[in-house]
Amino acid sequence: MRIVKVLFLVGIFSFTALAAAPPADTSAENQVIQVALQPSSLESNLHHLTDEIGGRVPGTLAMQHAVEWGVQALTAAGADSVHTEGFTIPSSWSEGATEMTATTSYEIGAKVGGTILSVFRVRAVSFAWAPALPAVKHVPIVDVGEGTEADFQNAGDVSGKVLLVHTKVLKTWDDLFAEYANATPIVDRAVKANAKAAAFLATREHDILYRHLNTTTGEIDKLPMVIVAREDGERLARLLAAGNKVWVDLSIPNQIGGPIRASNVIGEITGSENPDEFVILGAHLDSWELGTGALDNGCNAALVIDALRAIKASGIKPKRSIRFILFSGEEQGMIGSHAYAVAHRHELDKAAGVVVYDSGTGKTTGYSVGGRTDIVDPAKQLIAPLAQFDVKALHTDIEWGTDHFDFMLEGVPTFVAEQEEANYLENYHAVSDTYDKVDFPQLKKHVAEAAALALGLANLPTRIGPRLTRAQIEQTIIDSRSEQMFKQFGLWDDWVNGKRGRQK
Ligand SMILES: [Zn+2]
Repeated sequence: MRIVKVLFLVGIFSFTALAAAPPADTSAENQVIQVALQPSSLESNLHHLTDEIGGRVPGTLAMQHAVEWGVQALTAAGADSVHTEGFTIPSSWSEGATEMTATTSYEIGAKVGGTILSVFRVRAVSFAWAPALPAVKHVPIVDVGEGTEADFQNAGDVSGKVLLVHTKVLKTWDDLFAEYANATPIVDRAVKANAKAAAFLATREHDILYRHLNTTTGEIDKLPMVIVAREDGERLARLLAAGNKVWVDLSIPNQIGGPIRASNVIGEITGSENPDEFVILGAHLDSWELGTGALDNGCNAALVIDALRAIKASGIKPKRSIRFILFSGEEQGMIGSHAYAVAHRHELDKAAGVVVYDSGTGKTTGYSVGGRTDIVDPAKQLIAPLAQFDVKALHTDIEWGTDHFDFMLEGVPTFVAEQEEANYLENYHAVSDTYDKVDFPQLKKHVAEAAALALGLANLPTRIGPRLTRAQIEQTIIDSRSEQMFKQFGLWDDWVNGKRGRQK
């Protein structure tokens, strides 16, 4: 930014200096970038989606309205065609009025009256897609530390009890990864030990509650579970550590139903030379509902739409088609993007790349290319126009947890935006994930980056890389040392038995 200002001043005061400056970048990518940075309906689109429609869980009326919003907004942005494609999520789920109350006893001295009972409310929400728990009263709560094997052994017999599980405050992407990775084994230990339910301390401070999911397939989990406000959880832990007896009343009346239909929304710009070949620019439209899903991932659904607008408004015609996809069911385990990859498997040989944004509005630093060392050199050329935004890094790691995943496992080149944490993690899936958290000047830059990258992929003389065979995909998993991660999240079995990924 500072450099731009200095150049501008030089331009005013010195013709010589201006003439010596490098020629303006008139590439198609840069033209689209310039259009993308101009005012647009980005803000009002996101206002409709978050403030008016609100949180968007598949199976709800809000989600249906969001799909209609997507169709309308993609059409208004100038798409050549817009349609929806349905798929099934195994169960519906919604939270009832979760309630948790703690009772503790303490001694106040014989003069005043001996043993006193103190009752206080514990602010709690159910984990998503967790089973209901009919109201239970006066159940002992027991501290199982961080829920390791050793912690469970130290805690002794926990059958029929409610477990208090400690967590770390969420600060980095690595912390978030660990939060997911740790959860499943803790649930397994709790089920094995016959616990009644588990109460996890929120990983956010200041009473922030959030919705979380510990399964990866849209199936109902094995144990009733709540997230408790960190401050309440710490109070419970201190009482237990001091030797006070603590009991809880707990009611988790979740409503669970059978399979539900959900929809992805697809807008397309048809390619001018190779319309059968296509690039995907995608972001998920669904969200959790405690907040309004602004950072995760309404802002990037609005980005996808605005990138289409920018390309259309620039007048540049992509040679290959570009599909702008708003996926659904992402939060239940990338179910919508998986369904899309499977339904379009027959044409994935013609997929020229998949670009996904799913990390709020923290500054983009580069892209993760899903283990594809073979595409690093051409990708460097491709993102060269983004150097003006300081977007330069290419990571050859394999990532899980957003909508590129099933395309990557089908051998298609993928680009996931790597972004700074900014305010994403403290508001992640939380009551506080609302419109006011969105950094619009930064989001505008991301629209420009996404539009330029999608256009670049669509216009390369030859595609950036081939679709990998099953054996080659497996090699990228091994070379990037991702096997352990796959096993941790139960993905390895899905890959081996052909439930996910390229068949041959
Ligand atoms: Zn997301």
